[in-house]
Amino acid sequence: MARGVTDRRVIDAMLKIPRHIFVQEAFAAQAYSDKPLPIGEKQTISQPYIVALMTEKLALTGTEKVLEIGTGSGYQTALLATLADRVYSAERIRPLALRARKCLDSLKLFNVQLRINDSEGSPIGWEDEAPFDAIIVTAGAPSVPVILTEQLARGGRLVIPVGTDVDQQLVTIIKDEDGELHQELSIMCRFVPLIGAQGWQA
Ligand code: SAM
Repeated sequence: MARGVTDRRVIDAMLKIPRHIFVQEAFAAQAYSDKPLPIGEKQTISQPYIVALMTEKLALTGTEKVLEIGTGSGYQTALLATLADRVYSAERIRPLALRARKCLDSLKLFNVQLRINDSEGSPIGWEDEAPFDAIIVTAGAPSVPVILTEQLARGGRLVIPVGTDVDQQLVTIIKDEDGELHQELSIMCRFVPLIGAQGWQA
């Protein structure tokens, strides 16, 4: 895989999951180019390189319970479901979540629970199911939400784009076995905004 993604499990999962079923029919021919594509509702499926990089940073081995904020098309969710034990994924736009469910079912990825978070002011995260071994946020946030670091297990990793509503830097938060948080900064990226109490106004 180009540009330094070396985790063989991530590469194999990306070779296995058909990205074209997660994009709109009009964009199916572009599904395997390394670029983001529209998925409707003014949202995007992320560029495959960024998906690979973020997934690699979670360091999944197959045993983890993972939280994803921003189901979108469900493509990233499908990768997580292939690479971890259980996935909990939240999306604020109902039609996207419903379509993602169909795609995941068509691939027989039944280890995913989806939640629609469309009520205004509802906090992000999934308190009832916390703690999570890995958390991935696939929308840009103004800062790392404390509510998510609280839902991270000891030894767990949180990957999130942090910055303005235009561009962000990829941040990995690692919670060590003593509960201390450590931060690693990675590349600049461009995500649609995280909406809500811990993000931006709709
Ligand atoms: N990972 C997705 C994929 O593979 O298609 C792409 C996600 S898209 C870049 C970001 C998604 O985050 C959008 O679908 C958007 O509706 C969702 N989103 C934004 N704010 C959210 C929130 N507070 N809770 C849940 N989903 C949110």
